[in-house]
Amino acid sequence: MKKTVLITGGSRGIGRASAQLFAQQGCNVAINYLHSQQAAMDLAAGLTGEGCQVITCQADVSSREQVAAMVGEVQERFGAIEILINNAGIAQQKMFTDITTEDWDAMLAVNVKGIFNCCQAVVPGMISRKQGKIINLASIWGLTGASCEVHYSTAKAAVIGFTKALARELGPSNIQVNCVAPGIIDTDMNASLLEDDRCRLIEATPLMRLGTPQDIAYALWFLASEQADFLTGQVLSPNGGFVI
Ligand code: NAP
Repeated sequence: MKKTVLITGGSRGIGRASAQLFAQQGCNVAINYLHSQQAAMDLAAGLTGEGCQVITCQADVSSREQVAAMVGEVQERFGAIEILINNAGIAQQKMFTDITTEDWDAMLAVNVKGIFNCCQAVVPGMISRKQGKIINLASIWGLTGASCEVHYSTAKAAVIGFTKALARELGPSNIQVNCVAPGIIDTDMNASLLEDDRCRLIEATPLMRLGTPQDIAYALWFLASEQADFLTGQVLSPNGGFVI
């Protein structure tokens, strides 16, 4: 049976590569975006017709109301959401002493409350069907901490805690909840990296390169597959060996 996946932040980067992979594998895909409407629509237009249906839906994941409306829209169109990929996220580099209350609130609103909102909207349907896969995007910085990214590291560590707790609670309903904690991936999120920093990061990576969005999409596909039915509450970290 064709499965439906909702990918938050599917307009760019890791979410975009995941939308492409899941559509190529025959899933119906709902691509959530916030600002990049044209990119999301072009992506959907290019994927529709590969034996799957692809729709776009605008919502700010930090808004409970917008998420509820989006999930209702996707369920109306496809009937059920079998796979939820909580990928939408923001990052920021700042010295700890420069982080404002607004920076802090925005970081947690998108990266943590966004996941809470999406899960609360999607999980009731999964519980009633006794089936579902939820995959959350954490980060290596949520495991190790990153200098000048205290708020981002905090948010991503919270994602890991959230994943483990929800996995315990939803396991009896046959819902797997896992997270992927990528290393440094070549997306817009890292576009401001200076060339020197980029080279240093590559040198510190045993596999001698940054990750691609596709590297992460493959990990997400595995966790969403039936081959991962006995995996829950885990952190899979495609990072080229940067963190071992
Ligand atoms: P990206 O290229 O900057 O793309 C971010 C995506 O999130 C965009 O599609 C954006 O949508 C969406 N988004 C941001 N705020 C949103 C909101 N409030 N509501 C809905 N959508 C929102 O990022 P990426 O590198 O692909 O990262 C994807 C995820 O992986 C994030 O959670 C990130 O923290 C995590 N991650 C990334 C890396 C990395 O090195 N790149 C490493 C570890 C973890 P619009 O453009 O439509 O606004």
